[in-house]
Amino acid sequence: MEDTIFGKISRGDIPTEFLYEDDQCVVIRDIHPQAPTHVLIIPRKPIPRLVDAGADDQALLGHLLLVAGRVAEDLGVGDAFRLVINNGEGGGQTVFHLHLHILAGREMTEGQLTAGLN
Ligand code: 5GP
Repeated sequence: MEDTIFGKISRGDIPTEFLYEDDQCVVIRDIHPQAPTHVLIIPRKPIPRLVDAGADDQALLGHLLLVAGRVAEDLGVGDAFRLVINNGEGGGQTVFHLHLHILAGREMTEGQLTAGLN
């Protein structure tokens, strides 16, 4: 796959504040926040889309979910947040390096499920 901005960020090629990092992933603030709290969990492994993940990635995908929960708690939004993965252009994905969005701090009603996050 082609290198992306998230590949560069996760490797440290583009200096970016990591709210959390470990050997498998990094967590950064979204540059164009769609909610008062909007952070991205980015695996270091450059999987383009969720559907490109394979059986080998099972533990990594579970890890990303656990990190999301812990980071949400650390940010003080553990009781009310939304976790989003956009998959493919039609699903609103713009950076083709798998990532999870944590959105919090605004009302998350059913009607906003797809709104406000490109
Ligand atoms: P997607 O639309 O692919 O699900 O989400 C990509 C997200 O990455 C968008 O919310 C966008 O604002 C964010 N983003 C794109 N480029 C950068 C960047 O260079 N730095 C940061 N922190 N976020 C970025």
